[in-house]
Amino acid sequence: MAKIGINLVTGSLQKDEIIVGIDLGTTNSLVAIIHPETKKPIVLKEHDESSLVPSVIYFDEYGNPVVGSAAKAYLETAPERTIFSAKRLMGKTYRDLGNASLFSYKIIDDNTDSLVKVKVDDRFYSPIELSSFILKELKLRAEHILKTPVTKAVITVPAYFNDAQRQATRDAGKLAGIDVLRIVNEPTAASLAYGMGVGKSDDVQTIAVYDLGGGTFDISILRIVDGVFEVLSTNGDTYLGGDDFDKCIVQHWAEQHKITFEELSANKILTQGLRLKAEAAKKYLSDSDIYEDELNGLSLILTKGEFELLIEPLVSKTIDCCNKALKDAGLNKSEIDNVVMVGGSTRVPLVKHSVSEYFDRKVNDSVNPDEVVALGAAIQADILAGNNKEVLLLDITPLSLGIETAGGLMDVLIPRNAKIPSKASRQYTTQIDGQSGMRISVFQGERDLVKDNRKLAEFNLTNIPGMPAGLPKVEVGFLINADGILTVTAKELRSGVEQRIEVKPQYGLTDDQIEKMLMDSITFAKEDILQRALAEARTEGEQLLKTTENFLQKNSALIYNDELLQTAAGMQALQLAITMEDKNLIQRKIEELNDISRPYAERIMDQAISKAMAGKKI
Ligand code: AMP
Repeated sequence: MAKIGINLVTGSLQKDEIIVGIDLGTTNSLVAIIHPETKKPIVLKEHDESSLVPSVIYFDEYGNPVVGSAAKAYLETAPERTIFSAKRLMGKTYRDLGNASLFSYKIIDDNTDSLVKVKVDDRFYSPIELSSFILKELKLRAEHILKTPVTKAVITVPAYFNDAQRQATRDAGKLAGIDVLRIVNEPTAASLAYGMGVGKSDDVQTIAVYDLGGGTFDISILRIVDGVFEVLSTNGDTYLGGDDFDKCIVQHWAEQHKITFEELSANKILTQGLRLKAEAAKKYLSDSDIYEDELNGLSLILTKGEFELLIEPLVSKTIDCCNKALKDAGLNKSEIDNVVMVGGSTRVPLVKHSVSEYFDRKVNDSVNPDEVVALGAAIQADILAGNNKEVLLLDITPLSLGIETAGGLMDVLIPRNAKIPSKASRQYTTQIDGQSGMRISVFQGERDLVKDNRKLAEFNLTNIPGMPAGLPKVEVGFLINADGILTVTAKELRSGVEQRIEVKPQYGLTDDQIEKMLMDSITFAKEDILQRALAEARTEGEQLLKTTENFLQKNSALIYNDELLQTAAGMQALQLAITMEDKNLIQRKIEELNDISRPYAERIMDQAISKAMAGKKI
């Protein structure tokens, strides 16, 4: 059997084609490449601009996106149409999100398991679309600087990103016209930038990557064996970073000048002014001992000692996370060989000092902490281009493998470029009451609709015992062994009914065919993602119609006539919208129907609860 390896990807590269490394950050994003002459990684920037592109998108009244510093200016003046932190929404459902009120723009919150969407005017955007706007801007900038088309990239994600979040990042790349050759963990990229894992070594190395940015903190414990990076554990706080340092300073100055919390809340201009000064003070104190300035006659003074006292509790919190991560990895501090510092806030001397003291060793901080992840991504890109032979790369899958789900959609279980051997599983359920069989169709390819991919196999899981729709738990497992043979299993977990089939995923596909499938996935990316969004909106709409109908049948006596009439009209409108090709229209009709049924659904639930509780003591 032909081994599938990285050469397939390399073989598809044109001579001298550039693969860029992209750090798609929560606050800022940036692009890096390997310099063609020095062979060293460098970040891309226009002469007079910063390499950091704020991950902020402003939509003008016509829905045109503006990305980067120009968009950041609108955070204060047009918060409802300026999207920040889209990365926090990637691959998340409303339920995952917990508190949507932390965002100043509108997140459609219907407390369900469907993926979140952001609403600006009457348009709905998925986090994938939002991230694609940022990636497109990065691509354009890179093309402008390099004066050559940029179509291939390695993109980094946090180590804790799950499959759905990684897939979402990959899709965002596709939508931006980028072929994402690999998704790399941010701590892995940072370690690569320090030369770790490069060069042949039998030594096992254990690395702690401490990443404190503007709004998030991550600690990852990695192990490198033979050039292969493995994440042993991760920990952190998704709402802790340099912005909190700034807030501490603002509070300190406000107290000094007897400005109350209410006054601060009411005076947005003063608060914003103080916040900017606070950030300036913090940065200044990274190299100096005292900061002195003023704002509208208020004297603003801060010593390094005062600043350190203010942020000490926050820094301690990060050290607690390090402790937990080590514990989860089953390691002692002394077993860590290297500590790598990532993120702008690791420039704060107290942070550096505390981390160094905790791990009892000197930390690696010589590479710019804002750039280190992008630089590592560029190194990974260079390895994929076949230019760096010192890093061992495992055999990988040349195309994604998945199964067909509702609406003819491709649900990827093992993404393209996954290491071989590889294993993945996911649970599915039935759509119809009493459904006794489930057809499992296995596909290979990058397109969102299975009809555009290549079918590898199909089998039926039969004899599922009769259960209401949604109750059976069918676990579909994919296992690719070291020879590249895929085994697919399907097991209904409640009854234990099981089926399996063996497939040779790459059988019959030449390198050229694989190449074509990859190119098609980029050419049709926009169309595909629109189709996927439409199919998902239709499925969501159909499910809502079904649940509403069931609810009406069971509770008709408790619903008022005008409510019934409104619901019928809402259902009809949704039914009609489903037949059309406009996902925004379907989303709007879903929202409208939810708005109609929510009051009586809540009333009936409350009544049911009081009835159940009647006569019972709590
Ligand atoms: P990142 O999310 O990695 O871009 O980190 C941005 C954070 O780093 C922001 O909170 C910045 O205020 C902070 N930062 C940048 N430069 C410095 C510096 N010299 N000293 C302290 N904090 C800094």
